[in-house]
Amino acid sequence: MNGVANTADMEWLIEAWAGMSNEPPSKHLNLQHLSSIANVGSCEFIGSHTTIPFYEGISSLRGWELSQRHAFSAIGYTAFSHLDWGFACKQPFLCKSCVESDMHLYGQSYWRRSHQVPGLLWCPEHKSSLSWPDDIHWFNRSPAEAIDVATSYDSETVRDALSNSHIVRYVELAFKLLERKSPFDAESVSNTLRAEATKQRFFMWGGRFSINHMLHDAEWRFGRKWLDRVMPLYTNRKKRIDFWCSRYVGTFSVEQRQASFLMECLVASTLLYESVEEALTQLGRYNPSPAREERQTPFLLNKDELLQTYILTRGNYRRIEENYRGRSTRSRIWSGLCELGLPHLVEGRGKSSLRALMAFYLEGLSVADSAEVGGMDQEEMESLLRQCSFLLRNVLKEIDGNRDNAQAEH
Ligand SMILES: [Zn+2]
Repeated sequence: MNGVANTADMEWLIEAWAGMSNEPPSKHLNLQHLSSIANVGSCEFIGSHTTIPFYEGISSLRGWELSQRHAFSAIGYTAFSHLDWGFACKQPFLCKSCVESDMHLYGQSYWRRSHQVPGLLWCPEHKSSLSWPDDIHWFNRSPAEAIDVATSYDSETVRDALSNSHIVRYVELAFKLLERKSPFDAESVSNTLRAEATKQRFFMWGGRFSINHMLHDAEWRFGRKWLDRVMPLYTNRKKRIDFWCSRYVGTFSVEQRQASFLMECLVASTLLYESVEEALTQLGRYNPSPAREERQTPFLLNKDELLQTYILTRGNYRRIEENYRGRSTRSRIWSGLCELGLPHLVEGRGKSSLRALMAFYLEGLSVADSAEVGGMDQEEMESLLRQCSFLLRNVLKEIDGNRDNAQAEH
């Protein structure tokens, strides 16, 4: 299922496996049928049997973004139809030893998704070279059939790659991505990598993270030969970039490479972080752009939290603002409280709107009497009442309860 171009092809392939491609359309199998035969949800099925978790490992898909809940099920088919298949692997990879062991154990062989990670040259289990038949349509047949026409890397190439700590670390990171149940947030990853690269004195433009100004470093650490596999040079448009790099105190000239954002991030993470664990921690950090933070602030004002803060601060807007310092703006807090119908409660200088509202809502006094209790005039009291919602009675009860508790403790 790794190499097919679109969902229709995938379903066709599933039907072919099930021997149903000649059946009338109504009887056709689809992904849902197949996953139910396997006794897992279709999203879970996709998550554990395809390379989608890798290729969509750093994503800004709305489904993920909205849920933030890190469940593959959150996107399901929606994500599936948005997948960028353009950079999926061009050949199916197999390990001859794995195929032989499959044939020996099960009498049939299958394409392992872990062998399809771009830039992986060896079988993680046998440490021997991966092999590949020449075109992607071989995915529709079994690896055992392809074994005789498959080409392998020469042993020197595999040995060099295995002894390159950067390549080994990249592969380890790629496997971690394959195991994850959710993608990293593309915007956060971009911001984090750009900040780290700048810290390490690579020059970075604004906007989305790009590996361009780290390419000389990437060529040096990974070797051009390996880099050509995951980030090939442009063939039809030669594009060299010259730049000054304060990290190496020199001017460099490199050829630009075409790469997916995912690959740029994975290669850069391997350069910027010393361990896979550190890279995973940093990639997982929520790090939105300031503009987006501003946009999302209303959502960060959780209603329950706002209510609790209102109760604890006895309705004092200034103290509520202090509680939200750095997390929200004054105007958002004020409009949030207005929407909830919770007015600013003033206390001091002989005036207490809290006292007045308690008298009105909890003691059942009239508007005039309540105003008097709170040291306010009637007009002020009426205007205050117009700002209150039905929530206020319970809120006042809680504030009153808190005061009783506080007194009991003393
Ligand atoms: Zn193997």
